[in-house]
Amino acid sequence: MSSAPNATHDVAVIGSGPNGLAAAIVAAQSGRRTILYEGNDTVGGGLRSAELTQPGFVHDVCSSVHPMGAASPFFRSLPLAQYGLEWITPPAAAAHPLDDGTSAMLWNDEKRTADELGLDRMRWHRRIGTIARDWNNLELDLLAPPVSFPTHPVSFARFGIQALLSVNGYAKLAFNTPRARALFAGCAAHSLIPFSYAGSAAIGIVMAAVAHARGWPVARGGSQSIANALAAHFKSLGGEIVTGMPITTHEQLGGAKHLFFDTSPRAMARIMGARLPAAYATKLERHAYGPGVFKIDWALSGPIPWKARECLEAATVHLGGTIEELAESEAAPWRGDHADKPFVLVTQPSLFDASRAPAGQHTAWGYCHVPNGSTVDMTARIEAQMERFAPGFRDVVIARAVHNTASLEAGNPNLVGGDIGGGSNELKHLLFRPTWRTYSTPTPGVHLCSAATPPGGGVHGMCGYHAAARALT
Ligand SMILES: Cc1cc2nc3c(=O)[nH]c(=O)nc-3n(C[C@H](O)[C@H](O)[C@H](O)COP(=O)(O)OP(=O)(O)OC[C@H]3O[C@@H](n4cnc5c(N)ncnc54)[C@H](O)[C@@H]3O)c2cc1C
Repeated sequence: MSSAPNATHDVAVIGSGPNGLAAAIVAAQSGRRTILYEGNDTVGGGLRSAELTQPGFVHDVCSSVHPMGAASPFFRSLPLAQYGLEWITPPAAAAHPLDDGTSAMLWNDEKRTADELGLDRMRWHRRIGTIARDWNNLELDLLAPPVSFPTHPVSFARFGIQALLSVNGYAKLAFNTPRARALFAGCAAHSLIPFSYAGSAAIGIVMAAVAHARGWPVARGGSQSIANALAAHFKSLGGEIVTGMPITTHEQLGGAKHLFFDTSPRAMARIMGARLPAAYATKLERHAYGPGVFKIDWALSGPIPWKARECLEAATVHLGGTIEELAESEAAPWRGDHADKPFVLVTQPSLFDASRAPAGQHTAWGYCHVPNGSTVDMTARIEAQMERFAPGFRDVVIARAVHNTASLEAGNPNLVGGDIGGGSNELKHLLFRPTWRTYSTPTPGVHLCSAATPPGGGVHGMCGYHAAARALT
């Protein structure tokens, strides 16, 4: 993967996460000589996969399930299948088990999902189904900087009016049953913001609707295969990649005219030093972060013994029960607290991709949200939630690897305080992150392109795409 650095490049990209790779590909597509520097020994950032527990068990270090990867207009424009990327889409996007031993299911099939919600059947069609059926019109605008004029204003306005609500407000308005409200709340909890905040409903609506529009797929062989396909395509366009090279000063970057930072805002400020105006650098240093995560990777002797067997139909499982319980769990980190019964986001990709574990065995991870920078060990609380919905879970655990916010950040400096989304998802920050300049800076040729820029966290590459397309095409 490594090649020698060269001082004659037009473009240098710092960081090889999905956004760095996307920016590098756009630069290479425009005919510029492009080099990409990665501090880690392997490319991918949040897309890396590794044997974190035992040989033969391939775990996704960060990202595992990719609704936005499948929905990304930029990824879809690339010949990634030629480089080995194969999406696997389970029949259900997510399962949300409840204490009665059943599970609310977010099937890819809108009708099946709605039918199982009983009294909320028509409401699901009206609220989530309408957005899902309009997905092709919405996708480009949802994955663009929020201040740009929508390409489909009517569709976007219909979404926007609902998206401005809080999770609690939307769930009350949209659904009557605890089951539908819980299913929606699990999707909304991906946002990492309290359910009482204005705008917190947006991510829940998007996650639920994209399930019906595109599904929530995993990548065969692990998320690393997405990064490998992007890197291979970049190299086929003449791009060069240097791994194992953390950038700490501007001097390491040669004379490239354009620099794209797939880094945290503060890392860019520190690398550029006095080349950025002091007032702007201060704003980058003050970029607002949300809660962190505490993650456990498990090597398992068999499938997770869910009480509700339909949980085996989805690669993602949302644990926590009712919307009220999830609301309490998601508010806790913002008060500096650790929830006793945290919302746990579980992925179980090996159920659909046997290449990730020895025959008959499995990999899974689960994480919960904790205060930014927390070093509290949440293993017992996460596994208690697993036992609540999958009695006997601990008996199938062969090995575990635990990661608090500090170890996550040590593995990838973009995860500041364990924040996995590049910054706080509060409405006021999402609109103008990291500053009103979005990708550009007061210094010509210097651009930020990581998840700290619009449209924010998740694997879609659209931050890198927009940053490079605006600057270079
Ligand atoms: C535990 C966890 C689970 C997640 N689950 C999902 C999921 O299931 N689905 C989903 O869509 N998203 C998920 N995400 C979020 C997703 O991984 C990120 O939003 C996405 O990877 C951000 O992409 P990026 O390119 O902006 O940055 P990153 O993917 O973080 O990549 C940044 C890269 O830059 C490198 N770098 C940083 N600074 C320097 C430097 N100074 N010099 C050289 N290299 C540098 C880093 O080493 C890293 O490789 C998860 C994240 C975590 C942590």
